[in-house]
Amino acid sequence: MIMISPNDLQKLRRHHNATIGLFVAFWIFALGLVGAIELLDLSEGTQDNLFGTLFGAVLILCLLRFAKRCPNCRSNLGWQVRLGIPKNCQKCGVDLRE
Ligand SMILES: [Zn+2]
Repeated sequence: MIMISPNDLQKLRRHHNATIGLFVAFWIFALGLVGAIELLDLSEGTQDNLFGTLFGAVLILCLLRFAKRCPNCRSNLGWQVRLGIPKNCQKCGVDLRE
């Protein structure tokens, strides 16, 4: 049974919580944005800026999601699970969470 170091486990857990936190924050932001456009009379320029920010946030989320690799086999974890870090690496089977 392969084990990864407590240090790596901690990093993975932090990444897991951060991606989920960001995902939730993103949806709150996106829904708030839609609400603001529906309810407030925003100028075209303001709307463009808001959509620009939203697009930037999506980009950062995608980057974060696919930046994490398995500490054991270096396989990309972003493809293995919808959100955060999977319990086990699907490639080498190593435990990624305590
Ligand atoms: Zn692996």
